[in-house]
Amino acid sequence: MNRTCVMTTSLTPFHTFHLPVNARKIISVSTKEALRDEWLLATQAGELVLILGQGSNMLFLDDFDGTVLLNRLLGIALSENDDFYFLHVGGGENWHQLVEWSLDQGIGGLENLALIPGCAGSAPIQNIGAYGVEFESLCDFVEVMDLRSGEVFQLSREACQFGYRESVFKHQYRDHFAIIRIGLKLPKAWKPVLNYGSLAQFDPENVTPRQIFTEVCAVRSAKLPNPNEFGNAGSFFKNPIVPLADFQRILAAYPNVPHYPQADGSVKLPAGWLIDQCQLKGFQIGGAGVHTQQALVLINKGDATGQDVLALATHVRRQVREKFGVDIHPEVRFMGKVGEVDSEQVTR
Ligand code: NAP
Repeated sequence: MNRTCVMTTSLTPFHTFHLPVNARKIISVSTKEALRDEWLLATQAGELVLILGQGSNMLFLDDFDGTVLLNRLLGIALSENDDFYFLHVGGGENWHQLVEWSLDQGIGGLENLALIPGCAGSAPIQNIGAYGVEFESLCDFVEVMDLRSGEVFQLSREACQFGYRESVFKHQYRDHFAIIRIGLKLPKAWKPVLNYGSLAQFDPENVTPRQIFTEVCAVRSAKLPNPNEFGNAGSFFKNPIVPLADFQRILAAYPNVPHYPQADGSVKLPAGWLIDQCQLKGFQIGGAGVHTQQALVLINKGDATGQDVLALATHVRRQVREKFGVDIHPEVRFMGKVGEVDSEQVTR
């Protein structure tokens, strides 16, 4: 079966915020041919189409007035040469299961990215990153289908134009393109990345990928809410990178501000710390709240609407701007009734 019409119009189980929103139709597709057929069928009927992985980085502000296609393109192929392992992974594969699978094969490289919710095909869009490793550093290629023409092509790592939670897939390849497969290239000469937090406790000479994986899972599980308990989309805001002069002004007022100097002289500040300093942990608007363990995460306390989360995000952003003179930008993408909404504009 290449295509399944899901017998519900509720999007609640298909995004990790678990908000009470609907689409006109939800269809699960497991081949690239079915994906294109359904896309053509819907667009030719004048319907809007949204392709969704696991909806782990999406805030639905409203019902979506169109068809949602769930990318369930599966399959993992492994090959190797003298120096590298090559993993070719269907866009609908679950990211965390991929990380586990690679470790089970004795392949290191993905362990710092354990427990990141979402699909393999969503990883390049966001250039997912955690504990000092970003998708970009593992990427060999991203395979894309132009849904209009049916053409399938591969983009090299350079062509993906990766940045901090940024890529070409949020711009040039946003509309009428689907990520159907990713290619990862992992060096056989594995090197641990241990510069973040508690990973620094490990001895780089003796640590194993599995030990790092276990530690990352433990830290994430302690800090981040389980979406099955409290709906959420992980980090809601990006960490701001500010000019040195702004950092020095903030440092003078808050000598304990955590900070990470960047190569170009600017300074990265942890958005979670800035929000916490505004005393916003646990703050609620309607059914949406700031997570008490990690202020960077906004959660659905059970009965939140998209508008509650939007109001909360706007409040958080304003408070941080007022206190620190720093603007924090949403990392999560916003979806309205008829398409993507500019998250920066609507939370200003
Ligand atoms: P944390 O350790 O409390 O640190 C807060 C922020 O400071 C991190 O977000 C990280 O920025 C930055 N940071 C920490 N150590 C750093 C270092 N040695 N060099 C440069 N920057 C450093 O962070 P956390 O909230 O527990 O998150 C840990 C990691 O998981 C981070 O990499 C974070 O991005 C990632 N994470 C991602 C999501 C998501 O939804 N995207 C959710 C949770 C955690 P960077 O984020 O720029 O790395």
